[in-house]
Amino acid sequence: MKLLVPVKRVIDYNVKPRVKMDGTGVDLANVKMSMNPFDEIAVEEAIRLKEKGVATEIVAVSIGEAKAQETLRTALAMGADRAILVVAEGEVEPLAVAKILKAIVDEEQPGLVILGKQAIDDDSNQTGQMLAALTGRPQGTFASAVTVEGDSVKVTREVDGGLETVSLKAPAIVTTDLRLNEPRYASLPNIMKAKSKPLAQKTPADYGVDTSPRLKTLNVSEPPKRTAGVKVADVDELVAKLKALGVAA
Ligand code: AMP
Repeated sequence: MKLLVPVKRVIDYNVKPRVKMDGTGVDLANVKMSMNPFDEIAVEEAIRLKEKGVATEIVAVSIGEAKAQETLRTALAMGADRAILVVAEGEVEPLAVAKILKAIVDEEQPGLVILGKQAIDDDSNQTGQMLAALTGRPQGTFASAVTVEGDSVKVTREVDGGLETVSLKAPAIVTTDLRLNEPRYASLPNIMKAKSKPLAQKTPADYGVDTSPRLKTLNVSEPPKRTAGVKVADVDELVAKLKALGVAA
């Protein structure tokens, strides 16, 4: 079974984002960028499926600036076999990403596409679902466990009330949640080896997709500053204050 793993280059999760002075977006100048954490989990899951003998090939794909090549090299160093970079300037919205991925799915015919449940920059949580709709493939979202037997893919999903297990018939789409696995670090020899793994370069036009935005960002602002706390003398005063706020009965 061939696996397709879309990985997005995003602002590193350890960086505290700064909003641009003019409120048009987040300042990305000189900011550390990394692979979206949920996508690292997707790459790890794909590698584990290959180690179990379920997957035969792992193809990583990224849509974004030329620098997204670094993100793909990370996926290759972790264990992906080859990569496709679709070079697009500016922000590419989830619908355009899903359309490009649909074209790649048509071309590559993967048995499973494993995406992150959301990109931590736009927090959209849309691409996997849109890709499932566009390809007409079944989807198992927010996976905390994935098992594959033949063309049956069992996905345990983290839902509000607990865990739900669904059975999908491959080819299918899976999106990863945080508890699915703990991604490995790439070893130095594998980082070196990744440099010579194949990386194809494409454009959205190659897939007939127009990536011009359909949404307009009106304003981006910092969250309100937290006001200072108040020290209370004892529990009675704390309870009284909570009652006054309507928090305690
Ligand atoms: P989103 O719907 O934007 O929250 O993204 C969900 C998932 O879709 C991500 O975790 C990635 O697996 C995939 N994805 C979104 N944007 C891109 C992109 N530009 N390139 C590759 N994969 C992407």
